[in-house]
Amino acid sequence: MRYCKYLSSENGASLSRYALVEKRNGVYWATLPMQAPQEDLSARILGGLPVPTLAVNFEPVPLSDLKLLPPVTPSKILCVGRNYRDHAAELGNEVPKEPLLFLKPPSSLLAPKGVVRIPAISTRVDYEGELGIVIARRCYKIGPDEDVRPYIRGYVCVNDVTARDIQKSDGQWTRGKGFDTFCPVGPIVSDEIDPAGGAPVTVITRLNGVVRQQGSTRDLIFPIAELLRYITQTMTLEPGDLIPTGTPAGVGAVKPGDRIQIEIDGLGILENEFAAE
Ligand code: MG
Repeated sequence: MRYCKYLSSENGASLSRYALVEKRNGVYWATLPMQAPQEDLSARILGGLPVPTLAVNFEPVPLSDLKLLPPVTPSKILCVGRNYRDHAAELGNEVPKEPLLFLKPPSSLLAPKGVVRIPAISTRVDYEGELGIVIARRCYKIGPDEDVRPYIRGYVCVNDVTARDIQKSDGQWTRGKGFDTFCPVGPIVSDEIDPAGGAPVTVITRLNGVVRQQGSTRDLIFPIAELLRYITQTMTLEPGDLIPTGTPAGVGAVKPGDRIQIEIDGLGILENEFAAE
């Protein structure tokens, strides 16, 4: 199952809709309803219910033809810091003994192809390519032997954009990580990869077409199951909540006009440009 969210023009109104996504000959297609809007799909995604794998009576449209929206509506974006050894080392930090958690506000979400605004008050803004977990069902205090996969709706590409200077000078990370547009996410959510079940994926970040990060989720210090168990000892996760799992080595600064692409096997490419605010 794969899906996206897009802006639909219907009778002069702009409405956000979900569509299932299929891959044919290397191209992603959204399957849009030919008659009534697909209210049922939204209700299922937002309500944490199972989502069908195949669409019927739908018209395929190339994903690139749609005005895509962030495919998640999280009550919270719960991020993991320094979850790859080589990234902790590159910024001169110790490897954490327990998962290092922080929040980004939902107001930081940005659609694929959206423009990330570089704040005038920051002198260094970095990209951080990450695998994001999307929660399917409410969960709290997941047990040590419990399978976490029923709580996972799927996975998505995320850019945990960071004002590095402000992150350092503030000490805590809310402002440096929390500017509007600092959480690009998309283009699709998919459960057809299984990094929680022992099938690692590669996270690749390109700056203006040049590979800058290439890490495998095999190297996560705290793997996905452990993260979900750890987080839910503290707080309830709700359907749609987003958990970026940390970034591999190779983070770096961007300047206005730069283009960042984050690619993960089976999840497509998240592309955003940066501009001065
Ligand atoms: Mg990060």
